[in-house]
Amino acid sequence: MRPFWLLPILLAMAGSPVRADDIKQTGLFRRVKASIDAVPAIDTHDHLRAFDALPNRVETPQGVGMTLHSIFAGSYYRWTNPLSPWPANGEFEEWWRTAQHDFDNARATSFYRYLLPGFSDLYGVDFDTITPEQAQQLNQSIFENYRDDRWLKDVITNRANIELMFIDPYWQRLKFSREYKFAVPLLNVTTLMRGSHPDRFDAPLDSPFVFARDRGLSTESFAGFLQVVDRIFSEAVAANCVCLKSTQAYQRTLRYANISRTRAEDVYGKPPEETTDQEQQDFEDFMFWHVCKLSAKYDLPFQVHTGQARVQGSNPILLADVIEANPETKFILFHGGYPWVGETGVIAMRHKNVWIDSVWLPTLSYTMAKRAYQEWLEAVPSDRIMWGADTVNAEGIYSATEFTRRCLAEALAEKVERGELREEHANRIGRQIMRDNALKLFPGLRRMLWRETP
Ligand SMILES: [Zn+2]
Repeated sequence: MRPFWLLPILLAMAGSPVRADDIKQTGLFRRVKASIDAVPAIDTHDHLRAFDALPNRVETPQGVGMTLHSIFAGSYYRWTNPLSPWPANGEFEEWWRTAQHDFDNARATSFYRYLLPGFSDLYGVDFDTITPEQAQQLNQSIFENYRDDRWLKDVITNRANIELMFIDPYWQRLKFSREYKFAVPLLNVTTLMRGSHPDRFDAPLDSPFVFARDRGLSTESFAGFLQVVDRIFSEAVAANCVCLKSTQAYQRTLRYANISRTRAEDVYGKPPEETTDQEQQDFEDFMFWHVCKLSAKYDLPFQVHTGQARVQGSNPILLADVIEANPETKFILFHGGYPWVGETGVIAMRHKNVWIDSVWLPTLSYTMAKRAYQEWLEAVPSDRIMWGADTVNAEGIYSATEFTRRCLAEALAEKVERGELREEHANRIGRQIMRDNALKLFPGLRRMLWRETP
């Protein structure tokens, strides 16, 4: 027999149109979300190029421009889902005839869903139920918006409410340019660390050897090469770069052994075809440790891609030894180490020189991101967590930002509802993650702020 007190609850649940346990339906969630929305954000990682160099523009009957296809092509959606190619005649209708079916298996994926706020909030379209007429109109609106750079700037600074954005220029690593007033430059060291020989570089803007030649510096000896690397760091600092970034996790293991300088010197100068994989790995291992030392010397915190990449070698735990041996270096574990978010948390818990960046995590998996925020806040002080959008155009940046604010608000509101956190403290944490923690870790940002903020 059921206890008598259960009956009213069962009756109340029957036929209820909304889930009683969905925090997003509550006033509490709306208040926390509004508080997070009001924070002028500091986005610690994006890949936004100069307006004229934005990627994925296509040929259309009205000329070259941005289209609905461009938005998906420049998104993470394409990493796991099909995208019909833009047709040779540039006609939207022809593209949509096949493209409308591309999304069938993507509906629940975060790589698809993170883009939805851009369509709903910026264009008033529910993409899940979009009609051919709406799709045509959406495509045309996108094309019109990109006739000049005003839309891009307005969406980023006003709609997404981003005050500063770190731009990781992997297309021109050693050219420290600043294309927007909200842009924060940084030094991407990914390719620098593989510099055992000039042939290791395809792009001149990546090559320390081209950098050296342009300045009349010698790379004849390994000592000379290391002086060039030092020069790159000092020029980066002079150009207001605030941190370092590595995405080597896409190419190799994050297990960096402590290799002697003599061993690295032996490999230096050997052409790639005469170098074994182990020799090159040893060289890169040495360079990673060397870059960690320069990171401390120049006070440039080190953003390291961890997790989702070459997953057999991207577990952040692999960095634990190098982190422990370099206490003066400030390490920032990117992407929360997805899917190893707990591992990321314990590294930050054990080491005061580690920060967690949740950049890209909600886009990878909204549910895991929400769980990660809650777990990290239980294991790590709240001033050690940051965020970033990690995308390439206005719609992507708005969407990833809104997706993150929503996810963070949900994580915090659930804690408040469970009595694990006071609402005013949740609001303070939201502001820390969206802005204040970056300002504290990168003091150089203060002189780049351009808004009147309370
Ligand atoms: Zn990125």
